[in-house]
Amino acid sequence: MQIKEYLEKYQPTIYKTFVNALHNEKLSHAYLISGNPGMPLKETALYLAKSILCDSPNPLACDSCITCARIDEGNYPDMMVFDGEKDRIKKGDIERIITNFDKTALESKGIMIYVLHLVETMTPIAVNSLLKFLEEPGKNIFAFLTTENEAKVLPTIISRTQVFRLKAINVKKIINDAVSAGVFQEDAELLSIFYNDPESIKNNIEEENFVIAKQALNDQLNAMLMSRDDAIFTCQRLVEPKMKSGIVTRMYLKLLSQVFQDLNNLQVNGEIIFTCYANIYEGLLEKLKNLDKSLLVIMSSMKKLELNVNTSLLLDHIIFEITKGAK
Ligand SMILES: [Zn+2]
Repeated sequence: MQIKEYLEKYQPTIYKTFVNALHNEKLSHAYLISGNPGMPLKETALYLAKSILCDSPNPLACDSCITCARIDEGNYPDMMVFDGEKDRIKKGDIERIITNFDKTALESKGIMIYVLHLVETMTPIAVNSLLKFLEEPGKNIFAFLTTENEAKVLPTIISRTQVFRLKAINVKKIINDAVSAGVFQEDAELLSIFYNDPESIKNNIEEENFVIAKQALNDQLNAMLMSRDDAIFTCQRLVEPKMKSGIVTRMYLKLLSQVFQDLNNLQVNGEIIFTCYANIYEGLLEKLKNLDKSLLVIMSSMKKLELNVNTSLLLDHIIFEITKGAK
């Protein structure tokens, strides 16, 4: 599934609004694509931007004309993209946009577009420059901004943009759609807590950090089924050596916290996300005690991880706590 289908199927209001505006030449000068982490914010911004420039939109970017291809290759001088996820967007970046777009467009279409992914990461001084630029938009200049945290975006920026808020898709639906697209049930379920669209799930089944975190989780859960000693041994000998970066540790802990969320839910309403672990859960429910407390231990450990604590000590602490009193 391409981003076009994602918008058409899961975000129909945004899709229709933009198609109509494009067709009737009533586009806003600036759009803010707002959503939660895991949603395809940047992909949406890039695709809508591309749709304005596409040689033969049907009704949005065709993805096959020369212009679409050049944009995909980052080879279209009248479109500038800054990714706040890779590098904080600075004043110099905004100045580059202003200087470039002060001249006439290089391409014959005469349209110039800039994309700023995650504007909440911008330095305050860069935000000021952007505000001035947004106040006096050039006739054929369009902006696509994105944010994962609208509360952190200045109201003055929001008021100068048309806001498109991506709606979260029901997790079960995402899992089903990913499985229909050929993803294994286990991968679809595990990745559904990181990505809110089937396409991203499909694209990340072989992502290195995920593969490591998944293996670590499987090792740890199976050891917990054996005994407390096995669980601790596995944590120290198999899991901890794999946690070579903050990213993989965060992924592992997020997966582990969902396991304990599921275990708690099993006792309440039976609604779980990782149905692939149904058998393991059955065994864990017999062995483990204090499931609600264990969930809290994992959640607070995830916060501590942000404070640069020693990862091995943190994982030791978690496994000691959650296997306390285990049979
Ligand atoms: Zn095209």
